[in-house]
Amino acid sequence: MAVGIALLGSTGSIGKSALAVVERHPERFRLVVLAAHRNGGELLVQSARHRPALAVLADPEMRLQAAPPPGVELRIGREALLDAARHPGADVVINAVVGAAGLEASLAALGAGKRLALANKESLVAGGPLVLQALRRGKGELVPIDSEHSAILQCLASRRRAVPDAGEVRRLILTASGGPFRERDRGALLDVTPAEALRHPTWDMGAKVTVDSATLANKALEVIEAHFLFGVPYDRLEVVIHPQSVVHSLVEFVDGSVLAQLGFPTMELPILYALSYPDRIPDGRARFDPVAASPLTFEPLDAQRFPAFRLGLQAARAGGTAPAAFNAANEVAVAGFLAENLPFPRIAEVIEGALAAHRPAPADSLEAVLEADRCARAVARQMVERT
Ligand code: MG
Repeated sequence: MAVGIALLGSTGSIGKSALAVVERHPERFRLVVLAAHRNGGELLVQSARHRPALAVLADPEMRLQAAPPPGVELRIGREALLDAARHPGADVVINAVVGAAGLEASLAALGAGKRLALANKESLVAGGPLVLQALRRGKGELVPIDSEHSAILQCLASRRRAVPDAGEVRRLILTASGGPFRERDRGALLDVTPAEALRHPTWDMGAKVTVDSATLANKALEVIEAHFLFGVPYDRLEVVIHPQSVVHSLVEFVDGSVLAQLGFPTMELPILYALSYPDRIPDGRARFDPVAASPLTFEPLDAQRFPAFRLGLQAARAGGTAPAAFNAANEVAVAGFLAENLPFPRIAEVIEGALAAHRPAPADSLEAVLEADRCARAVARQMVERT
């Protein structure tokens, strides 16, 4: 029987890559649910092609311009998205929702005992303890789609024991491309336009994550994500700049051996691995060529150059709801930058202001996390408006 898949965030960059993967393996995977935020036109096209049992538009204000294809139930709103994550026909839920809105969908999927293939890093950043609790209670599975975390999982899965044992792991080393401004003078960042920030040197991704890659806020989010996914403390999580994005991350073991996972940058591989894990299935994408990939270089990350990264790590170490506040402030600041209401270097200043105003609390309930998210957004919005 083909594996039933619920794809949340189907019209975004990860969603489209996931559809490409599923289409190449119709005998193995079958789409049961498609959910988009507000792109109803694209959702209709996708629904006609894939004929899911359920199609969802999460934004309650949105309406479809035409009737859904026969046999496809259409639902609208937040509850519909959560039901999509719990759909009885879905074995795997791919959560590729953008932003903090993905947390509740992750909790719903894990609560229903699904395998959660997680591309929404904010789930773990904002609600790490809640996600782990839902994983334990629902007895589901959590498999990352982020390329760095997929790389780490692949390095760890090569051992006899599939469950990560922190006693064997000395360090996790996440790679970062450094984004388009890796070598630019800090002073010259004031005039950066959204178009420049969206020109990523190695990865083709959605707008939010591409800007996060330019500020390296993305890497701070990924460090937090790795902390919760693999249970490794922050002092054993490191980041190295690797401009070619071929080595996706490395694991150093206590005996000094280091395993890395390599491949040309494409999200289709981590998506396929999250669907087939722990197996590997043949796939016909372009083959790897070490000669074409070379040279592979590594540089230290200069945290002074990337203040959003530094602030993210501060929030990580503070723990509780601080990472949720960091994430929320960053979302608002990035939206302000993309709307040309905020200069690029102000993104980090907005995050700093929101974190300074944040009152830390334990992240032990959805309400606590959502409250931290709301407060940080309000402070960040004020700062963007005053700019
Ligand atoms: Mg990544």
